[in-house]
Amino acid sequence: MELFKKILIANRGEIAVRIIRACKELGIKTVAVYSEADRESLHVKLADEAICIGPPAATQSYLNITAILSAADITDAEAIHPGYGFLSENSQFAEACINSGITFIGPTPENIKIGGDKAKARQILKRRGIPVVPGSDGPISSEEECLKIIKKIGLPVILKASAGGGGRGMRIIEDEREIEQAFFMAQREALAAFGNGELYIEKYFPKVRHIEIQILADRYGNIVHLGERDCTIQRRHQKLIEEAPSPVLTEKLRKKISEYAVKAAKALKYRNVGTFEFIVDHEFNPYFIEINTRVQVEHPITEEITDIDIIKEQIKTAKGYPLSFKQSQIRFKGHAIECRINAEDPEKFTPYPGIIEFIHFPGGPGIRIDSFLYHGCKVSPYYDSLIAKIIVNGANRHEAIVRMKRALEETMIRGIKTNIPFFLKVLQHPDFIKGKFFTDFVQITQGNEKT
Ligand code: ADP
Ligand code: ADP
Ligand code: MG
Repeated sequence: MELFKKILIANRGEIAVRIIRACKELGIKTVAVYSEADRESLHVKLADEAICIGPPAATQSYLNITAILSAADITDAEAIHPGYGFLSENSQFAEACINSGITFIGPTPENIKIGGDKAKARQILKRRGIPVVPGSDGPISSEEECLKIIKKIGLPVILKASAGGGGRGMRIIEDEREIEQAFFMAQREALAAFGNGELYIEKYFPKVRHIEIQILADRYGNIVHLGERDCTIQRRHQKLIEEAPSPVLTEKLRKKISEYAVKAAKALKYRNVGTFEFIVDHEFNPYFIEINTRVQVEHPITEEITDIDIIKEQIKTAKGYPLSFKQSQIRFKGHAIECRINAEDPEKFTPYPGIIEFIHFPGGPGIRIDSFLYHGCKVSPYYDSLIAKIIVNGANRHEAIVRMKRALEETMIRGIKTNIPFFLKVLQHPDFIKGKFFTDFVQITQGNEKT
């Protein structure tokens, strides 16, 4: 079987660059698409061909299905890689690709539909014996129903949007008097942000760790996991630092959670890549929370500890190759950490776009940079503030932490502000060093931040 000759990348920024790199190493030609704001962007310069698909607003460019399919058509691209965000979890887009005779590099439209319906995914997997957070069995449609569940599971609870993502569309209820307003607001926000106001409820655990399992699957029903990532360092439910392996999991718990993820993936006839997310409470009970049916921002830390190129596997399995290894052949080595470098004010966490006047990235042993920055390039206000991922690996967690500190200190970015000073504070915090923290770490260490 021959690999694809040409792939169109329906994304921008660091992930578009990451995918182009994988394609180059596989001998596949690449087509970049870009908005008018991204004309000079790195992914456009690195791809073999580039096509402008519309104005800066994502709704008119990176989310414009017709424009992207036309770009694939005129360039004879055989497949589309959607990256993360934008159209990556849009089942209609995956279907539209298939109907146009283009391979969608990702899970099946059915997989994507389940992943995008968080209330239903919980319901299905609970029936298959996967532990889910106590809460509603499927969606809830009224405040009364909300109250009934609270009477059963107790406060606090978290109201979530079935179609939610990116840490948005969640609301914590600590007092019964808040139900009416919380329900109304959450519904309205979900409708505005995701075009779907459906909500569900989970028990809210204030002290949890976020543990997720990377899954790889081919068309022939072979499913493997690449271990866990610990993404507990978050702010407002958005990940900031990720590490692999988790500093707190015992071998026994690691095995248990990975087996849940593989079992869940089998039950859903899962294909290509995906991440099964869990929270683990302070007594080390794991609960499934959601599936991300795409490549994850933090996939590089898994690549670093397994030596498996997740993007290449995604492309190969999408073409119809079987997985090139069995579970028993996957080896884990050392420890990897990623910091998400955002163009933002390090104190206020507000976006800080601008022109890069000077840039120097770190080097030396164990350091990997996934970024789209170059001297003189523009960090646009239109899109996500993620500008670079600094990934380090070391023989153990201690070496990885010391190396990350060195990498951040070596990094010089002028023209915009970044959250690097924030990461340097976290890295020297005694609780971070000990590995003793929960998802409220940033809130606690930053003072009176609201979640
Ligand atoms: P990961 O789980 O890979 O860390 P994130 O939740 O950080 O993923 O989301 C990855 C990217 O996709 C981010 O850039 C985020 O802004 C974007 N994103 C995630 N979900 C949505 C969504 N429902 N709508 C729009 N953008 C989203
Ligand atoms: P998204 O689709 O936005 O990624 P998730 O359901 O994955 O939403 O939740 C995002 C984060 O919110 C989790 O990583 C965790 O930190 C927090 N969270 C989600 N559900 C709960 C819960 N039931 N209790 C405590 N924290 C939660
Ligand atoms: Mg999530």
